[in-house]
Amino acid sequence: MKKSLFLFEEAKNYIPGGVNSPVRAFKAVGGNPCFIHKGNGSKIWDVEGNEYIDYVLSWGPLILGHSHPKIVEAIKEEIKKGTSYGAPTEIEVKLAKLITEIVPSIEMVRMVNSGTEATMSAIRLARAYTRREKIIKFEGCYHGHSDSFLIKAGSGALTFGMPDSPGVTKGSAIDTLVAKFNDLNSVKNLISENKGQIAAVILEPIAGNMGCIPPEEGFLKGLREITANENILLIFDEIITGFRVSLGGAQELYKINPDLTTLGKIIGGGFPVGAYGGKKEIMRLIAPEGPVYQAGTLSGNPVAMRAGYETLKILKEDKDFYKKLDILGKILEEGIIENMKKLNLNFSYNRIGSMSCLFFTEQKVKDLNTAKKSDLKKFSIYFHEMLKRGIYLPPSQFETIFISIAHSEEDIEKTIQANFDSLKTIFA
Ligand SMILES: *Cc1c(COP(=O)(O)O)cnc(C)c1O
Repeated sequence: MKKSLFLFEEAKNYIPGGVNSPVRAFKAVGGNPCFIHKGNGSKIWDVEGNEYIDYVLSWGPLILGHSHPKIVEAIKEEIKKGTSYGAPTEIEVKLAKLITEIVPSIEMVRMVNSGTEATMSAIRLARAYTRREKIIKFEGCYHGHSDSFLIKAGSGALTFGMPDSPGVTKGSAIDTLVAKFNDLNSVKNLISENKGQIAAVILEPIAGNMGCIPPEEGFLKGLREITANENILLIFDEIITGFRVSLGGAQELYKINPDLTTLGKIIGGGFPVGAYGGKKEIMRLIAPEGPVYQAGTLSGNPVAMRAGYETLKILKEDKDFYKKLDILGKILEEGIIENMKKLNLNFSYNRIGSMSCLFFTEQKVKDLNTAKKSDLKKFSIYFHEMLKRGIYLPPSQFETIFISIAHSEEDIEKTIQANFDSLKTIFA
């Protein structure tokens, strides 16, 4: 731990809080972050040489595991040619076409450099298209850190107890209305109180930033109906769920066609990428075809595009990919539930495929309020007990665990054992 600690102390002199994204600092669980030296497959190694089975996976993107040989080869080939031109390249067209094939509701797509940019641009577009200004988001859903979204925003913001960040103007906050996840009535009420003023309803179709919370039966379908009736655009933020819960994302899994979709994480194959797309009629409003301005010096960067393209190709060509991931998720779930039985514990466990979360509360977790019932002190101890045993979990209760295709059954079994030993240390 010495070298990580030294680096962290050094980092704090030059980088606010020593990190370039708040949740990395381990503030929610205490202690100092591990500085990572390298990753391979399901594993990462910190600068002291400790090995961990990684369930963060760069917060979701690395569905193929770390440094997948095919991705590494492809990137090398691409980099040798050059790294950025600020002019169109063929690989951008190939990736855009592949995305439209995989996600039918996306007829056209625009590449950006982060998820934050994707959601920020998607609501600008929705506002322009509908000529309305207000948006509805859900408590505990995170859509990046742009001003309109830093209202009851989940994970990082939740953990740090600043759902409304200083610096966000009243003007931007006032146009963001907040509904409750899995509660259609809360949406209906906001819509009727703001008749004809709502441009879009945006949500994570499976919440992944207040732990993992699936939509209840009928919730997404209800949202689709209400929004269609009121000419409100429905935006699925599939930055986590896209290519994660099924090839075509949550919209394929639940058979819902949103008007716009935001993507990120997996489509970058480990590089900084975001994207937003949807119906041609709406997307054609974006510059230079239409008047809605949105641009990016490094957008569609060929190296990132190539990494994303090769990743999606692997996901598309392996017909059993999501079945295999689901089996790993199921083994982990069953193991942890069995452990809890043995220890007389009955904590809530949510899972969709390779996304899951063990909440330290017995109450069923279906929204932000129930997620917040979790015992955060116990979670912090659990996190460190798992870390000691070589399991690298997200350092916050309000994050989702991800499994990659590189995780072996042996990794999962080792994790189940570590879970048992950790829970026993804390509760027995
Ligand atoms: C990660 C995430 C974002 C933000 O993406 P960045 O690339 O971190 O800006 C937006 N929405 C969801 C659902 C996310 O999980």
